[in-house]
Amino acid sequence: MSGYFCRGYDFYITKPNKKEEIHCRVCGAKCDVERGVKGPTNVASAIGGLKFEHDFFSCPNYDKEWHYRACKLVEELEDTLSKSVRELIKQDLDELLEENMNTESKSVSE
Ligand SMILES: [Zn+2]
Repeated sequence: MSGYFCRGYDFYITKPNKKEEIHCRVCGAKCDVERGVKGPTNVASAIGGLKFEHDFFSCPNYDKEWHYRACKLVEELEDTLSKSVRELIKQDLDELLEENMNTESKSVSE
């Protein structure tokens, strides 16, 4: 079950062939892409519907629980005006990404 998409952070909608690739702003992973999507995709309709042809990029990790938390941290990071709060959030974020991105690459190589 998805529902963890954070618009503008872990999925992106562009004009067809406008971007070669996009990296997730939350975790830095290379996004999966669906090119030349016509009409609303599941997610696009969930966010209000898209009628024009587009490329749809989404982070491969978007439906992970940790990714949702990371996404919220990135949002907070960009919202806050406090430099010290930013530092703290960044530490949390780095930790969260390190834990989960490492676990994932480990489970692949073992
Ligand atoms: Zn991501």
